Amino acid sequence: MSALESAQFQLAEAVKQLGLDDGFHQVLRTPRREMTVAVPLRRDDGHIEVLRGYRVQHNLTRGPAKGGVRFHPATDLDEVRALAMWMTWKCALIGVPYGGAKGGIAVDPRSLSRNELERMTRRYVSELIPVLGPEKDIPAPDVGTDEQTMAWMMDTYSIHSGYTVTGVVTGKPVSVGGSEGRGGATSRGVMYSAFCALRDAGIDPRDVTVAVQGFGKVGGLTAQYLHDAGCRVVAVSDVQGGVYNPGGLNTAGLLRHLRSGAQTVVGYPGTDTISNEELIELDVDVLVPAALEGVIHEENASRVRARFVVEGANGPTTPDGDVILQENGILVVPDILANSGGVAVSYFEWVQDLQAYFWTEDEVNARLKTMMEQAYADVTSLASERKVSMRTAAQMIGVGRVAEAHRTRGLYP
Ligand code: NAD
Repeated sequence: MSALESAQFQLAEAVKQLGLDDGFHQVLRTPRREMTVAVPLRRDDGHIEVLRGYRVQHNLTRGPAKGGVRFHPATDLDEVRALAMWMTWKCALIGVPYGGAKGGIAVDPRSLSRNELERMTRRYVSELIPVLGPEKDIPAPDVGTDEQTMAWMMDTYSIHSGYTVTGVVTGKPVSVGGSEGRGGATSRGVMYSAFCALRDAGIDPRDVTVAVQGFGKVGGLTAQYLHDAGCRVVAVSDVQGGVYNPGGLNTAGLLRHLRSGAQTVVGYPGTDTISNEELIELDVDVLVPAALEGVIHEENASRVRARFVVEGANGPTTPDGDVILQENGILVVPDILANSGGVAVSYFEWVQDLQAYFWTEDEVNARLKTMMEQAYADVTSLASERKVSMRTAAQMIGVGRVAEAHRTRGLYP
């Protein structure tokens, strides 16, 4: 099942549980705006390539559109539609006043030089300028993009506006209007979600083993924070494969290894090499998929041995996989809850930019914790009241709030 089919399936389930009619279902299912743009790129050797870029604004009813930008070779319009839809429910679930969006370019950023990346990013933004803005649509980092990408995006938008518009993107460096705590926010939120799940099961985090798929912006710091909190992180991976040490990995050493220029975690001293497939099936307490969509599916879900799956990535479990995990008594903390710390602190960053008044890292982290624990409590309480999975409960809250906003605003004309 594709990411879009998964997202649509999950929406249909929430719509059914909420008793919404067909017309409402169509409104919630259909993206408001979709843009496909050509991104002509002059490579360093002088030749020109034309890449394909996308931006989908799935819903704008609760506020401006908000969502990441992905640079990945497999990115296409359907994937962006799915990710934009999940953003809509996520923003509503944690109570930030945004609709959902997502964007991307079908490209492998590792195949480009830094200058090529900068030219590509700036051209992509310039094609989208009419639909971006602090009151319209606010991009952020996702797979293959980072703080530097956001700085180029903000700069390009600002140059076209004639003045500095820090609030047009989030996840920027602190030196140009970024927020303290944004870099680690998604990972911190994944940790809070894992702790809530462990607390409810009466388990001490210091007694658990963890495997993290995807040692990027989200997975890398999730592994580090869980390690710092006393968990034993036994496996992590990236696109090239994974490393395993049953006695526990040196997460800080692995992060330093990558920051100093290593291309992969594979081969890190004192570790065994495992595949991404093997990592998913490891005998650990907590599994954190933090790479791409669809990695837990019909074929491998029955071999997942973790007690808790805490979804750092968007859409890592297909609906078929979900059913099997549930039958096997595995608790899944769903993506739109578990990884919502990123957009929560993106919201804080936007608020700080609009007010030109900045908060301390402690303030950011404290507000994030309060917000995530509240959302977690809302989801578990609805799940037990309605006897549905945490995913369905989370979707019901998100979808229900967006439906309510539509109902209240009315249909124009
Ligand atoms: P990233 O580019 O920083 O890291 C992605 C990691 O996944 C890298 O380690 C990469 O090597 C690995 N990877 C890529 N393809 C893989 C494959 N086929 N198999 C295994 N590993 C693979 O991206 P990120 O920002 O950390 O995003 C990871 C996930 O988290 C995505 O699903 C993203 O949508 C989601 N997410 C990100 C944020 C954020 O703030 N960055 C917020 C919410 C959700």
